Amino acid sequence: MFDALADRLEAAWKKLRGQDKISQSNIQDALREVRRALLEADVNLQVVKEFISEVEAKAQGAEVIAGVRPDQQFIKIVYDELVQVMGETNVPLAQAQNPPTIVLMAGLQGTGKTTATAKLALHLRKIDRTCLMVATDVYRPAAIEQLVTLGKQIDVPVFEMGSDADPVEIARLGVERGRAENVDTVIIDTAGRLQIDADMMAELARIKEVVQPHETLLVVDAMTGQEAANLTRTFHEQIGITGAILTKLDGDSRGGAALSVRRISGAPIKFVGVGEKVEALQPFYPDRMASRILG
Ligand code: GDP
Repeated sequence: MFDALADRLEAAWKKLRGQDKISQSNIQDALREVRRALLEADVNLQVVKEFISEVEAKAQGAEVIAGVRPDQQFIKIVYDELVQVMGETNVPLAQAQNPPTIVLMAGLQGTGKTTATAKLALHLRKIDRTCLMVATDVYRPAAIEQLVTLGKQIDVPVFEMGSDADPVEIARLGVERGRAENVDTVIIDTAGRLQIDADMMAELARIKEVVQPHETLLVVDAMTGQEAANLTRTFHEQIGITGAILTKLDGDSRGGAALSVRRISGAPIKFVGVGEKVEALQPFYPDRMASRILG
Protein backbone atom coordinates (compact mmCIF):
# COMPACT_ATOMS: atom_id res chain seq x y z
CA MET A 1 0.00 0.00 0.00
CA PHE A 2 1.04 3.63 -0.70
CA ASP A 3 3.86 2.45 -2.91
CA ALA A 4 4.25 5.84 -4.53
CA LEU A 5 4.64 7.63 -1.24
CA ALA A 6 6.77 4.83 0.18
CA ASP A 7 9.15 5.16 -2.78
CA ARG A 8 9.43 8.86 -2.30
CA LEU A 9 10.10 8.42 1.34
CA GLU A 10 13.00 6.16 0.51
CA ALA A 11 15.56 8.94 0.79
CA ALA A 12 13.90 10.53 3.77
CA TRP A 13 13.71 7.13 5.37
CA LYS A 14 17.44 6.71 5.30
CA LYS A 15 17.60 9.60 7.70
CA LEU A 16 15.00 8.05 9.95
CA ARG A 17 16.75 4.69 10.00
CA GLY A 18 18.75 3.99 13.05
CA GLN A 19 16.94 6.58 15.17
CA ASP A 20 15.02 5.56 18.23
CA LYS A 21 12.72 8.56 18.16
CA ILE A 22 11.13 10.41 15.30
CA SER A 23 12.32 13.97 15.85
CA GLN A 24 11.84 17.43 14.42
CA SER A 25 15.03 17.28 12.44
CA ASN A 26 14.69 13.81 11.01
CA ILE A 27 11.16 14.10 9.69
CA GLN A 28 11.46 17.31 7.67
CA ASP A 29 12.30 15.52 4.43
CA ALA A 30 9.57 12.97 5.00
CA LEU A 31 7.03 15.74 5.67
CA ARG A 32 8.10 17.48 2.48
CA GLU A 33 7.31 14.31 0.53
CA VAL A 34 3.89 14.00 2.14
CA ARG A 35 3.23 17.64 1.30
CA ARG A 36 4.10 16.98 -2.33
CA ALA A 37 1.93 13.87 -2.45
CA LEU A 38 -1.07 15.78 -1.05
CA LEU A 39 -0.62 18.69 -3.43
CA GLU A 40 -0.38 16.29 -6.33
CA ALA A 41 -3.61 14.73 -5.14
CA ASP A 42 -5.12 18.25 -5.40
CA VAL A 43 -5.67 18.85 -1.74
CA ASN A 44 -6.12 22.56 -1.11
CA LEU A 45 -2.89 24.32 -0.15
CA GLN A 46 -4.14 25.72 3.15
CA VAL A 47 -5.57 22.33 4.09
CA VAL A 48 -2.23 20.72 3.26
CA LYS A 49 -0.38 23.16 5.50
CA GLU A 50 -2.64 22.50 8.45
CA PHE A 51 -2.55 18.79 7.89
CA ILE A 52 1.24 18.70 7.72
CA SER A 53 1.64 20.58 10.96
CA GLU A 54 -0.74 18.19 12.67
CA VAL A 55 1.18 15.20 11.38
CA GLU A 56 4.40 16.83 12.47
CA ALA A 57 3.07 17.30 16.00
CA LYS A 58 1.91 13.68 16.15
CA ALA A 59 5.07 12.21 14.68
CA GLN A 60 7.47 14.25 16.76
CA GLY A 61 8.73 12.36 19.70
CA ALA A 62 6.86 9.20 18.74
CA GLU A 63 8.87 6.27 20.00
CA VAL A 64 10.08 4.09 17.19
CA ILE A 65 8.41 0.75 17.73
CA ALA A 66 10.83 -2.15 17.90
CA GLY A 67 10.76 -4.19 14.74
CA VAL A 68 8.84 -1.55 12.77
CA ARG A 69 10.70 0.47 10.18
CA PRO A 70 10.44 4.16 11.10
CA ASP A 71 9.35 5.10 7.58
CA GLN A 72 6.49 2.60 7.77
CA GLN A 73 5.58 3.94 11.15
CA PHE A 74 5.60 7.46 9.78
CA ILE A 75 3.39 6.50 6.84
CA LYS A 76 0.98 4.90 9.29
CA ILE A 77 0.81 8.16 11.25
CA VAL A 78 0.04 10.06 8.04
CA TYR A 79 -2.56 7.50 6.97
CA ASP A 80 -4.28 7.43 10.36
CA GLU A 81 -4.42 11.20 10.45
CA LEU A 82 -5.95 11.32 6.96
CA VAL A 83 -8.60 8.79 7.94
CA GLN A 84 -9.31 10.74 11.09
CA VAL A 85 -9.65 14.08 9.34
CA MET A 86 -12.04 12.51 6.83
CA GLY A 87 -14.24 11.22 9.63
CA GLU A 88 -13.09 7.64 10.41
CA THR A 89 -16.22 5.87 9.22
CA ASN A 90 -18.98 6.13 6.70
CA VAL A 91 -21.78 8.47 7.75
CA PRO A 92 -25.10 7.33 6.32
CA LEU A 93 -27.77 9.61 4.96
CA ALA A 94 -29.86 11.26 7.68
CA GLN A 95 -33.27 9.80 8.26
CA ALA A 96 -36.07 11.94 9.61
CA GLN A 97 -37.96 10.69 12.63
CA ASN A 98 -41.13 11.71 10.89
CA PRO A 99 -40.78 10.97 7.18
CA PRO A 100 -40.30 12.20 4.61
CA THR A 101 -36.61 12.83 4.95
CA ILE A 102 -35.94 15.90 2.84
CA VAL A 103 -32.68 16.05 0.94
CA LEU A 104 -31.61 19.24 -0.82
CA MET A 105 -29.01 18.86 -3.55
CA ALA A 106 -26.71 21.82 -4.17
CA GLY A 107 -23.76 22.46 -6.42
CA LEU A 108 -22.51 23.99 -9.63
CA GLN A 109 -23.80 23.05 -13.04
CA GLY A 110 -22.05 20.10 -14.62
CA THR A 111 -20.82 18.60 -11.38
CA GLY A 112 -23.25 15.72 -11.65
CA LYS A 113 -26.00 17.00 -9.37
CA THR A 114 -28.96 15.74 -11.39
CA THR A 115 -27.27 12.39 -11.97
CA ALA A 116 -26.48 12.18 -8.25
CA THR A 117 -30.12 12.91 -7.42
CA ALA A 118 -31.18 9.88 -9.44
CA LYS A 119 -28.29 7.77 -8.16
CA LEU A 120 -29.32 8.53 -4.60
CA ALA A 121 -32.96 7.72 -5.35
CA LEU A 122 -31.95 4.39 -6.86
CA HIS A 123 -29.71 3.63 -3.89
CA LEU A 124 -32.62 4.29 -1.53
CA ARG A 125 -35.05 2.30 -3.64
CA LYS A 126 -32.69 -0.67 -3.47
CA ILE A 127 -32.91 -0.55 0.33
CA ASP A 128 -36.69 -0.40 0.09
CA ARG A 129 -37.15 3.28 0.71
CA THR A 130 -39.64 5.08 -1.44
CA CYS A 131 -38.59 8.34 -3.06
CA LEU A 132 -39.87 11.36 -4.86
CA MET A 133 -37.49 13.52 -6.87
CA VAL A 134 -38.32 17.20 -7.34
CA ALA A 135 -37.11 19.16 -10.38
CA THR A 136 -36.60 22.85 -9.60
CA ASP A 137 -34.09 23.84 -12.27
CA VAL A 138 -36.49 25.98 -14.27
CA TYR A 139 -33.66 27.80 -16.05
CA ARG A 140 -32.69 24.75 -18.03
CA PRO A 141 -35.73 22.85 -19.28
CA ALA A 142 -33.29 20.13 -20.35
CA ALA A 143 -32.48 19.56 -16.68
CA ILE A 144 -36.14 18.90 -15.89
CA GLU A 145 -36.37 16.50 -18.83
CA GLN A 146 -33.16 14.81 -17.73
CA LEU A 147 -34.59 14.13 -14.27
CA VAL A 148 -37.90 12.89 -15.72
CA THR A 149 -36.00 10.52 -18.03
CA LEU A 150 -33.82 9.26 -15.18
CA GLY A 151 -36.94 8.84 -13.03
CA LYS A 152 -38.52 6.60 -15.66
CA GLN A 153 -35.31 4.64 -15.96
CA ILE A 154 -35.13 3.87 -12.25
CA ASP A 155 -38.85 3.79 -11.65
CA VAL A 156 -38.92 6.70 -9.22
CA PRO A 157 -41.56 9.44 -9.60
CA VAL A 158 -40.57 13.03 -10.39
CA PHE A 159 -42.49 16.11 -9.28
CA GLU A 160 -42.17 18.96 -11.75
CA MET A 161 -44.18 22.02 -12.77
CA GLY A 162 -42.47 22.87 -16.03
CA SER A 163 -40.16 25.82 -16.42
CA ASP A 164 -42.54 28.72 -15.75
CA ALA A 165 -43.08 28.06 -12.06
CA ASP A 166 -41.13 29.49 -9.13
CA PRO A 167 -38.42 27.07 -7.92
CA VAL A 168 -39.18 27.76 -4.26
CA GLU A 169 -42.84 26.99 -4.85
CA ILE A 170 -41.99 23.81 -6.77
CA ALA A 171 -39.83 22.65 -3.88
CA ARG A 172 -42.54 23.44 -1.33
CA LEU A 173 -45.26 21.67 -3.29
CA GLY A 174 -42.91 18.78 -4.04
CA VAL A 175 -42.38 18.19 -0.35
CA GLU A 176 -46.13 18.46 0.22
CA ARG A 177 -46.70 15.86 -2.47
CA GLY A 178 -44.12 13.57 -0.93
CA ARG A 179 -45.78 13.92 2.45
CA ALA A 180 -49.24 13.26 1.02
CA GLU A 181 -47.96 10.16 -0.71
CA ASN A 182 -46.08 8.92 2.36
CA VAL A 183 -42.75 8.56 0.61
CA ASP A 184 -39.71 8.01 2.80
CA THR A 185 -37.46 10.55 1.08
CA VAL A 186 -37.94 13.63 -1.06
CA ILE A 187 -34.83 14.63 -3.02
CA ILE A 188 -34.82 18.15 -4.43
CA ASP A 189 -32.60 18.80 -7.42
CA THR A 190 -31.76 22.49 -7.73
CA ALA A 191 -30.39 24.80 -10.38
CA GLY A 192 -26.65 25.14 -10.67
CA ARG A 193 -24.62 27.75 -12.48
CA LEU A 194 -21.24 27.41 -14.07
CA GLN A 195 -19.83 29.62 -11.36
CA ILE A 196 -20.90 30.66 -7.91
CA ASP A 197 -23.55 33.24 -8.39
CA ALA A 198 -25.46 35.43 -5.91
CA ASP A 199 -28.86 34.65 -7.44
CA MET A 200 -28.26 30.92 -7.28
CA MET A 201 -27.23 31.18 -3.64
CA ALA A 202 -30.21 33.36 -2.75
CA GLU A 203 -32.59 30.92 -4.39
CA LEU A 204 -31.03 27.94 -2.65
CA ALA A 205 -31.25 29.74 0.68
CA ARG A 206 -34.94 30.43 0.10
CA ILE A 207 -35.64 26.82 -0.85
CA LYS A 208 -33.79 25.68 2.24
CA GLU A 209 -35.74 28.06 4.43
CA VAL A 210 -39.04 26.86 3.04
CA VAL A 211 -38.47 23.08 2.97
CA GLN A 212 -36.25 22.78 6.07
CA PRO A 213 -34.22 19.85 4.72
CA HIS A 214 -32.70 17.17 6.93
CA GLU A 215 -29.78 16.99 4.56
CA THR A 216 -28.22 19.63 2.36
CA LEU A 217 -25.75 17.78 0.18
CA LEU A 218 -23.12 19.63 -1.79
CA VAL A 219 -22.25 17.84 -5.02
CA VAL A 220 -18.57 18.33 -5.78
CA ASP A 221 -16.74 17.25 -8.91
CA ALA A 222 -13.56 15.50 -7.78
CA MET A 223 -11.84 16.68 -10.96
CA THR A 224 -12.07 20.35 -9.92
CA GLY A 225 -9.11 19.92 -7.61
CA GLN A 226 -8.11 23.05 -5.73
CA GLU A 227 -11.34 24.81 -6.63
CA ALA A 228 -13.32 22.32 -4.55
CA ALA A 229 -12.10 24.13 -1.46
CA ASN A 230 -13.43 27.57 -2.46
CA LEU A 231 -16.68 26.07 -3.60
CA THR A 232 -17.18 24.26 -0.32
CA ARG A 233 -16.33 27.32 1.72
CA THR A 234 -18.83 29.50 -0.13
CA PHE A 235 -21.67 26.98 -0.06
CA HIS A 236 -21.07 26.16 3.55
CA GLU A 237 -20.92 29.78 4.65
CA GLN A 238 -23.93 30.86 2.67
CA ILE A 239 -26.20 27.83 2.75
CA GLY A 240 -24.84 25.46 5.36
CA ILE A 241 -24.22 21.93 4.17
CA THR A 242 -24.67 18.71 6.13
CA GLY A 243 -22.79 16.45 3.76
CA ALA A 244 -21.30 16.06 0.31
CA ILE A 245 -21.25 13.75 -2.66
CA LEU A 246 -17.96 13.61 -4.51
CA THR A 247 -18.57 12.79 -8.16
CA LYS A 248 -16.41 11.61 -11.07
CA LEU A 249 -14.06 9.56 -8.95
CA ASP A 250 -13.85 7.12 -11.83
CA GLY A 251 -11.65 9.75 -13.46
CA ASP A 252 -7.96 9.98 -12.75
CA SER A 253 -8.22 12.40 -9.85
CA ARG A 254 -6.60 11.17 -6.66
CA GLY A 255 -9.52 12.49 -4.65
CA GLY A 256 -7.77 15.17 -2.63
CA ALA A 257 -10.99 17.19 -2.84
CA ALA A 258 -12.40 14.80 -0.24
CA LEU A 259 -9.93 16.03 2.34
CA SER A 260 -10.52 19.70 1.46
CA VAL A 261 -14.31 19.39 1.55
CA ARG A 262 -14.33 17.65 4.90
CA ARG A 263 -11.77 19.89 6.46
CA ILE A 264 -13.36 23.13 5.31
CA SER A 265 -16.99 22.31 6.06
CA GLY A 266 -16.64 19.72 8.80
CA ALA A 267 -19.45 17.93 6.95
CA PRO A 268 -18.94 14.30 5.99
CA ILE A 269 -18.73 13.08 2.44
CA LYS A 270 -21.52 10.55 2.28
CA PHE A 271 -21.26 9.09 -1.20
CA VAL A 272 -18.97 9.01 -4.18
CA GLY A 273 -19.98 8.93 -7.83
CA VAL A 274 -17.92 6.49 -9.85
CA GLY A 275 -19.41 6.67 -13.32
CA GLU A 276 -22.09 8.11 -15.55
CA LYS A 277 -24.48 5.23 -15.01
CA VAL A 278 -27.20 5.62 -12.45
CA GLU A 279 -25.92 2.62 -10.49
CA ALA A 280 -22.49 4.19 -10.12
CA LEU A 281 -22.80 5.48 -6.57
CA GLN A 282 -20.94 4.10 -3.56
CA PRO A 283 -20.85 4.99 0.13
CA PHE A 284 -17.79 7.02 1.04
CA TYR A 285 -15.18 5.28 3.18
CA PRO A 286 -12.42 7.47 4.68
CA ASP A 287 -9.88 4.62 4.78
CA ARG A 288 -10.26 3.84 1.10
CA MET A 289 -9.97 7.50 0.22
CA ALA A 290 -6.88 7.91 2.39
CA SER A 291 -5.20 5.07 0.44
CA ARG A 292 -6.17 6.68 -2.83
CA ILE A 293 -4.91 10.12 -1.83
CA LEU A 294 -1.57 8.73 -0.73
CA GLY A 295 -1.31 6.93 -4.06
P1 GDP B 1 -25.53 18.82 -13.18
O1 GDP B 1 -25.47 19.94 -14.16
O2 GDP B 1 -24.72 19.09 -11.96
O3 GDP B 1 -26.91 18.37 -12.83
O4 GDP B 1 -24.76 17.59 -13.86
P2 GDP B 1 -25.29 16.28 -14.57
O5 GDP B 1 -25.92 15.37 -13.59
O6 GDP B 1 -26.11 16.66 -15.76
O7 GDP B 1 -23.91 15.64 -15.02
C1 GDP B 1 -23.01 16.31 -15.88
C2 GDP B 1 -22.19 15.29 -16.65
O8 GDP B 1 -21.35 14.56 -15.74
C3 GDP B 1 -23.05 14.25 -17.35
O9 GDP B 1 -22.46 13.97 -18.59
C4 GDP B 1 -22.97 13.05 -16.42
O10 GDP B 1 -23.14 11.84 -17.10
C5 GDP B 1 -21.56 13.18 -15.88
N1 GDP B 1 -21.38 12.54 -14.56
C6 GDP B 1 -22.11 12.70 -13.44
N2 GDP B 1 -21.61 11.97 -12.42
C7 GDP B 1 -20.52 11.32 -12.91
C8 GDP B 1 -19.55 10.41 -12.35
O11 GDP B 1 -19.56 10.04 -11.17
N3 GDP B 1 -18.57 9.97 -13.20
C9 GDP B 1 -18.51 10.38 -14.52
N4 GDP B 1 -17.51 9.91 -15.25
N5 GDP B 1 -19.38 11.22 -15.05
C10 GDP B 1 -20.39 11.69 -14.27
